[in-house]
Amino acid sequence: MGQITLQDVQKSFGPVHIIKGADLDIADGSFVVFVGPSGCGKTTLLRLIAGLEDVSGGKILIDGKNVVDTPPAKRGLSMVFQSYALYPHMSVRGNIGFGLKMAGLPKDEINRKVEAAAATLNLTPYLDRKPRELSGGQRQRVAIGRAIVREPKAFLFDEPLSNLDAALRVQMRIEVTRLQKQLGTTAIYVTHDQVEAMTMADKIVVLNGGKIEQYGSPLELYEKPANLFVAGFIGSPKMNFVTGELARQQGAATIGVRPEHLRIERDGAGGWQGTIAVAEHLGSDTFLYVDAGPLGMLTARYIGELSLHAGDHVSLVPDPARIHRFDASGNALRG
Ligand code: ATP
Repeated sequence: MGQITLQDVQKSFGPVHIIKGADLDIADGSFVVFVGPSGCGKTTLLRLIAGLEDVSGGKILIDGKNVVDTPPAKRGLSMVFQSYALYPHMSVRGNIGFGLKMAGLPKDEINRKVEAAAATLNLTPYLDRKPRELSGGQRQRVAIGRAIVREPKAFLFDEPLSNLDAALRVQMRIEVTRLQKQLGTTAIYVTHDQVEAMTMADKIVVLNGGKIEQYGSPLELYEKPANLFVAGFIGSPKMNFVTGELARQQGAATIGVRPEHLRIERDGAGGWQGTIAVAEHLGSDTFLYVDAGPLGMLTARYIGELSLHAGDHVSLVPDPARIHRFDASGNALRG
């Protein structure tokens, strides 16, 4: 089991209130990602769950038991860090088995578990190598192997892929997701990469300034953002926001339309008129940054290639079913 519940979790460092009352229910076996801008408290919240920081208030329940006074090693969680934290003088075998050795397990059993984990992670050929003789991706797998052999109730990942190059990140992202599903172990994963969040998570926690803005599946966050912050944070390129008269006509203070929900017309008279400032041709997609006068700069995305260029006039027609409306406090209006 690995069900984790936070109840009004608070954290202050001295006078500074960092985590401002977090409530969260993480189902056993689920993959939950914490995202949010730099400094919003993602790592702090993860460290509170791990027990590496003490809470200033509230409860953390693991399988129903409040663990706020339980030391990290007794919480049954395994943490995987961005820095890998491998012992340089130890072999891969030694690194993966280290925690089990400390726990006093018999040698045979340690070997069996280490070899099983190495096989799962395609590390068998490297068991006798030192970390410096491995690639970044292999080192990251060793760090994950060390977490797996302890058979934790949950894995806690702190930006584990951020030291890897772009191609390897994509590969490891898929491997970590596959592994988590195969093991069925609860995982909490901190990242500021929203593509990682959208692709890996069963559920995403969007944090901002120490508060949870929304907790939901990737698609829920994309389709039904609770407020302006989530609407602007999830999705790349960012959602377009328009205020003023146009928003008031919709009964809102702000309306939002995602770049992929603006239809691009060359000679249209309807929609929002503007001039292309920059056109990005990616082959698979075309992104247009359109100067729409009083509406500001708007981004439109076309799936495929569009032969339009800077200086061309276009009209952007929002899909009426995909317009998001927000009130003056920034909360989403529905219906
Ligand atoms: P990033 O994406 O940049 O890693 P984060 O969302 O993980 O950011 P945290 O590392 O949790 O953010 O930090 C949240 C806030 O708490 C920051 O303002 C940080 O400076 C502060 N903070 C973190 N640890 C401590 C500490 N030990 N003492 C004082 N302030 C701290």
